[in-house]
Amino acid sequence: MSTPTASQVFHRDLTHPAPAVSHASGVHVWDVEGNRYLDASSGGNIVISVGYGVQEIIDAMTEQARRVSFCGQFTSEPQEQLARELADFAPDGMDYVRFTSGGSEANETAIKLARHYFVESGKPSKHKIVGRWRSYHGNTLGALSATGHVMRRVGYAPMLLPFAHAAPPYRYRCTFCARSDACTLSCADDVERVILNEGPEHVAAFIAEPVVGAAAMGMLPPEGYFERVREICDRYDVLLIVDEVLSGMGRTGRNFAIEHFGVVPDLITCGKGISSGYSPLGAVIARNEIYDAVARGSGMFEHGFTYGGNPLSCAVGLAVLRHIQKHDLVSRAGEVGAYLLAEVESAIGDHPLVGEISGLGMLTGIEIVADRATKEPFPYERGVSKRIARACQERGVLINPSFSGNADGYRGDRFGICPPYIFEREHVDRTVAALAAAVDEVAAELA
Ligand code: PLP
Repeated sequence: MSTPTASQVFHRDLTHPAPAVSHASGVHVWDVEGNRYLDASSGGNIVISVGYGVQEIIDAMTEQARRVSFCGQFTSEPQEQLARELADFAPDGMDYVRFTSGGSEANETAIKLARHYFVESGKPSKHKIVGRWRSYHGNTLGALSATGHVMRRVGYAPMLLPFAHAAPPYRYRCTFCARSDACTLSCADDVERVILNEGPEHVAAFIAEPVVGAAAMGMLPPEGYFERVREICDRYDVLLIVDEVLSGMGRTGRNFAIEHFGVVPDLITCGKGISSGYSPLGAVIARNEIYDAVARGSGMFEHGFTYGGNPLSCAVGLAVLRHIQKHDLVSRAGEVGAYLLAEVESAIGDHPLVGEISGLGMLTGIEIVADRATKEPFPYERGVSKRIARACQERGVLINPSFSGNADGYRGDRFGICPPYIFEREHVDRTVAALAAAVDEVAAELA
């Protein structure tokens, strides 16, 4: 006999059922009870870039579904055109795109492409991938092996692939710079330490998020970090993969967040905002040298997922990308995002519960602490970030309740405010008012 439950979906959190969504429009979502929410979370998973219910995207989807939604034997015009326009959107010299159905698949693809590149280049011993602690690259076991998000890994150890991890560039809790006023960029040098430890002749790639998502929302690298990392990667012939599944496609106010830091990576992975949630889509954008090595070599990259590059999702991706460019939404994400950061700072920056506020564009993170002086976090089990998110939801505003836990020496309790790019200042004001009241409410409960 099975245990009867209200829902027969095997949800992630069986203890707190979420309300069911009814419909959405612009920056608002309604549940089936008729409650309306202002969505400052981009669909919770930081997916919605251009907003809900955009007619030209719906039209593109409908038209493509009528023509053909799937044909794995052939390529399609939407796939080819999206690759061209995505290559124009990406840094110079990155002109080739492989499509997937999401971010984890994109990272799996990038990892395999990095390894394949070295096979094609006559260096098959270069197969290891180095990740960073406090990172999140996806839930498939390869991407999870690269992930350094303790709470996502716990329960699945040992990892399928024993990837090594470098220290994160976590300025707020930097163990390297704790005793010095100035940043020493030792977190970047830690990448070199790990590569040397693993043996450079065995390391294919280093993977990192330019601005961190779920594992430490809005965590920014110190100035010079990625330049130093790029030098290290070049020194040891290691590819630099930047995971822009969350930070890419304009969210931070640049097409890709890595552009803030002045380096060109070898591979960029995309997901989420690339299709704004209208249809599952991900992508890997590759530097031309990687494509050339495969084209000159075997001519084969033997890899793929059934739905990768399907015409329907690519038609959506194309409509989303054109919509972003037509309405200059990348600049808007940067400008309104800067306003959001400043308003959050002025509303709760001095609050006793708030340790750090950081981010870029529509990717803002807030770290909650029990003690500002010692930076001591609340115990993970108290779920303070989640309580703040719930208190916002009760006020009709959705934020991102992700938090990172404090197991195994990785401490911190953070959440995000990551709205769609079409948020206006008035929406920011409503979000920040709800947030300030929610933080006060939870602080009073904890007192
Ligand atoms: N990489 C980053 C930076 C992410 O934030 C996520 C999802 O949150 C992923 C990869 C995994 O993407 P997906 O859930 O689409 O597989």
